[in-house]
Amino acid sequence: MIDIGVNLTHPSLLDKLEQNITLWQQQGISNIIAIASDLEESQKLQAICQQHNSIYQTIGCHPHQAKTWHTSSNFLCRDLIQNSPTCVAVGETGLDFNRNYSTPEEQITAFESQIQLALEVNLPLYLHEREAEDTLQSLLVNHASQSLASTPLTGVIHCFTGSKESLKRYLDLGLYVGITGWICDERRGQELQEAIQYIPKDRILFETDAPYLTPRTLRPRPKKNHPAYLPHIVEQAAYYAQMSAQELIYHSIENTKKLFRIDVPI
Ligand SMILES: [Zn+2]
Repeated sequence: MIDIGVNLTHPSLLDKLEQNITLWQQQGISNIIAIASDLEESQKLQAICQQHNSIYQTIGCHPHQAKTWHTSSNFLCRDLIQNSPTCVAVGETGLDFNRNYSTPEEQITAFESQIQLALEVNLPLYLHEREAEDTLQSLLVNHASQSLASTPLTGVIHCFTGSKESLKRYLDLGLYVGITGWICDERRGQELQEAIQYIPKDRILFETDAPYLTPRTLRPRPKKNHPAYLPHIVEQAAYYAQMSAQELIYHSIENTKKLFRIDVPI
């Protein structure tokens, strides 16, 4: 399987990377997608991917880091993408009005610029959204409708935690849905536990968001999350989706291949 969301430059994963790769591969995770939070990190990941052919990456700027996005960033980003054959998506990008580490205006500027970029380079968007659903969705719709690109805008709403209603709106936009260990959270994950049965089989993807979001149902409880724990997340998701884990794994791999245009063994 593939973990489509790993924060690989965190020291808990990057130190002893070889050992960590072995650890997740022993659990059946053949590949990962390392997600970038800004251009500097995108560059770092490019160097890592060149040395490890089981690792793919995104290139882009997270809403928290939107204040670092300048007029030349779009050009720099495109250049980096064109020189990174293992780049499978633009992002992590989107809007986070919950924490506002960058102002909403800065976030919107960086986001719109990256939507345009995704359309130009024909890559999916790797999307992050917190308390900004309406704005994020209307920006996507506006850009998609004005686009002259030959292929439609596509992407994944990563770490989806919302309700059945919110899920429907994202599905209507044609997006894939990323499920994390949030599904294992008995306090905060209830809405998601109910909503997951409504995710069509051809739209679901799995990610750990390691080293963050350690699944709360793991025993013994580890200090940090790791791609090796992805099978546990799939098992929990299968329980709430009333489907077998094997079936979910099969579909999520097919979806990964289709959205990111990569080949991943089962
Ligand atoms: Zn995120």
